[in-house]
Amino acid sequence: MVRQANDLELHLKRLADCRRCGHPEPIVPILSRAKRPRAMLVGQAPGKVEISSRKPFAGRAGKTLFRWLEEAGLTEEEARERIYISAMTRCFPGAHPSGRGDRVPTRSELELCGSWLDDELRLIRPELIIPVGKLAIGRFLGEAPLADVVGKEHHVEHEGGSSTVVPLPHPSGASSWIHAPGHRALVSKALRLIGGRMRALAAAVLLLMLVPAVARAQSRTDAWFGPDKVKHFFTTALIQSLAYSVAQVTTRGPRSSLLLSASVASAAVGIGKEMHDRRSYGLFSVRDLAWDAAGAGTASLMLARTRH
Ligand code: SF4
Repeated sequence: MVRQANDLELHLKRLADCRRCGHPEPIVPILSRAKRPRAMLVGQAPGKVEISSRKPFAGRAGKTLFRWLEEAGLTEEEARERIYISAMTRCFPGAHPSGRGDRVPTRSELELCGSWLDDELRLIRPELIIPVGKLAIGRFLGEAPLADVVGKEHHVEHEGGSSTVVPLPHPSGASSWIHAPGHRALVSKALRLIGGRMRALAAAVLLLMLVPAVARAQSRTDAWFGPDKVKHFFTTALIQSLAYSVAQVTTRGPRSSLLLSASVASAAVGIGKEMHDRRSYGLFSVRDLAWDAAGAGTASLMLARTRH
């Protein structure tokens, strides 16, 4: 993680100095501020407003985008911290000749700037990519009507490995796509998928932080087998099933998000109990937690086979 943050900082320094395109001055590459991102959002190109603020998606389109992301459970601040905001090209390409909106980057600008995005995919190896608008969606999913790809998860291979891709239409308002019947519902579905993935990423980071602390706290006198371990197995399986049912009734999200929410609840109860035991009796049992995980895992396998 630390190495990724250092490499990303170096990358941003180089990108800030890029002058490859023959744009008239001032050429200002717009940079993301996320330091240890696990997700990436890829837009088309910055607009005029972004030049003065030096922030991606700072204008009207950004307001719509961050309002959408609130539906996924992220405030603008959280989204900017946790999602690396990239783009097909990083400098304002100028106004569209028609005077309506911004010029679409040319093929040669896309080629010149494309290596920055390739490098970011290699550096960040994002679990989730959110391409925004037709140009960025085409980069990952090829040419396809928006209605066929928005509201779904896609799995793609790229320079940095493989990622889940959840596309969004461009929020600029220049396109009328969003106003066609059924299209707003597709966007809401995509935002629910993004919310589920972002919660899963947050839980994974939390677990990574907890594991070393748990290992340090292990007692040497605890046995692997015994009646207490059977109790841990069945109690956690029950908690996992109950938490899954509650999440299903209250959120109606995809099965993977429900299982994740249930797992987070079971883990919180299991770790909480061990912390309590440690305070009360001086015993923190990693073996109890292993049986908790086995109970939760078994319940998850059975729940995954039930009708959703
Ligand atoms: S658009 Fe990309 S390649 Fe062109 S100058 Fe800006 S950062 Fe460099």
